[in-house]
Amino acid sequence: MLIGQDITVLGAGIAGLAVARALALRGARVTVLEQAEAVREIGAGLQVTPNGAAVLEALGLGHALRAAGVASQAVELRDGPSESLVAQLDLARLRPGQSWNFVHRADLVAMLLEAAREVGVELRLLQRAARVDLTDEGPVLHTTQGAELRPGLLIGADGLHSVVRTALNGAASPFFTKQVAWRAVIPAEPEARPVAEVHMGPGRHLVSYPLRGGTLRNIVAIEERTAWVEESWSLRDDAMELRLAFDSFGPRVRDWLELVDDCWLWGLFRHPIARRWGWTAPAAPSLGVAMLGDAAHPTLPFLAQGANMALEDAWVLAQALATHDSLPAALAAFQCARAGRTARIVAAANANARNYHLRSPLREVAHLGLRTVSALAPGQLLKRYDWIHGVNVTAGG
Ligand SMILES: Cc1cc2nc3c(=O)[nH]c(=O)nc-3n(C[C@H](O)[C@H](O)[C@H](O)COP(=O)(O)OP(=O)(O)OC[C@H]3O[C@@H](n4cnc5c(N)ncnc54)[C@H](O)[C@@H]3O)c2cc1C
Repeated sequence: MLIGQDITVLGAGIAGLAVARALALRGARVTVLEQAEAVREIGAGLQVTPNGAAVLEALGLGHALRAAGVASQAVELRDGPSESLVAQLDLARLRPGQSWNFVHRADLVAMLLEAAREVGVELRLLQRAARVDLTDEGPVLHTTQGAELRPGLLIGADGLHSVVRTALNGAASPFFTKQVAWRAVIPAEPEARPVAEVHMGPGRHLVSYPLRGGTLRNIVAIEERTAWVEESWSLRDDAMELRLAFDSFGPRVRDWLELVDDCWLWGLFRHPIARRWGWTAPAAPSLGVAMLGDAAHPTLPFLAQGANMALEDAWVLAQALATHDSLPAALAAFQCARAGRTARIVAAANANARNYHLRSPLREVAHLGLRTVSALAPGQLLKRYDWIHGVNVTAGG
C-alpha cells in the first residue's frame, strides 16, 4: 500500500484527473499541476466505449457519463461519394447491455475535475513543467516560473509532448503520417440520429456524431496529404479548405460542412510507445515517477481509444499502487499490465486509416466484402473489436 504518501500528478487532462480521483478514493493526498490558466477545453467530441465507461462507472461517474453523453446506437460505414450504406454495427441490438457514449471532451474533463475535487484533490493552475530531473534522491520537477518541486511520487499525465516521458526515455522522434485531420462542431439537425457515421472515400474519410443532447454535431475529417502540418490541437484552418477536400462526397456531408464556421487542423504523427513508464530513485526506492495516457502511448484517433486507454491506465495504476508494498513492484506491475494491450490498440488504430482510405479497385472489393458480412453476419464486424471494447479493467477489484 503506497498511497499514504503525497502524490503529484502533472497534467489535468483525462488521464491526470481520472488517476487523481482513483488515488484519492483510495486515501492518497493528491495535487494536480496544470499548465493552463483554467481547465477549459477546446470543443471536440470523444467516443467513450464500454471499456472506458467501465472505469468511469467504477469511479462512481456512470450516472454523470450518461447525463453528459449521447447514448450511441450504431456505427454506420458509408461510401463517401454515394452515401450508400456499406456496413452497420448495430450496438443497441447486438450489445444491449454495454455503454457507448458520445461526449463533449469539455464535459468529460469538467466531470472528472469536479469528481477529483470532491474527494480532496488539489488543483494548481499555471504550473508548467519545464523539465524533470531524475536524481539519486528522487524526481525534481522544474517549472517554467523557476520553482523546483520534489514530489515523492510524480505521475506524468502530461500528454503528447510529455516532459516526464522525455525524462524517462530521452527525446522521441515522431514522424508525420502524411495525414491531417480537421475537427469542427456544428449545430445538429433536429432529431439527429445517435449514430456514428463514417463516410469513406479514396484517400479521406469523415466521422460525425451528435453531442450534448443531440444539439451539436462533432466532425472529424481526415485527408492524406504530403505537406507537413503542425502537431497541435489549436491550429485554426479556413473552413473552405475542409469543404474543398470533401467536395466529391455526398450532399449530407457537404451540407454539414457548409455549417462549419471554425475548424482546427492538425497533423497526425506516429510516436513510438515509450519503452520505460516508471522509475524509482536509486538512493530512495520509495520515491519515483510513473507515466500514463498519451504520455506513455500516443495513438492515432482511428479507433477512438486515446481517452479510453487513458481511463483504463488510470484505474490500473491506482490499483497497482494500492496493492503493492514497494514502488518498483507497483510500477513494474502497472507497465506489465498495460504495455501489451496499449501497443496492440495503437497498432490496430494505425491499420484502420488504410482500411477507410482505399482507392479503386481495392475499394470496391473491400466494400463488397463489408456489405456481405454486414448483411449475413452483422455480429462479426463488432466481434473483431471485442478484445478492445469487451475488457473491463476494473473487474478484478
Ligand atoms: C485540446 C485537446 C483536444 C483533443 N480532442 C480530441 C478529440 O476530439 N478526439 C480524440 O479522440 N482525442 C482528442 N484528444 C486526445 C485525447 O483527448 C487523448 O488521447 C486523451 O485525452 C489522453 O489523455 P491524456 O490525459 O493522456 O492527455 P491530454 O488530454 O493531452 O492531457 C494532458 C494535460 O497535461 C497538460 N500538460 C501538458 N504538458 C504540460 C506541462 N509541461 N506542464 C503542465 N501541464 C502540462 C495539458 O495542458 C493537458 O491538460 C484531444 C487532446 C487535447 C489536448
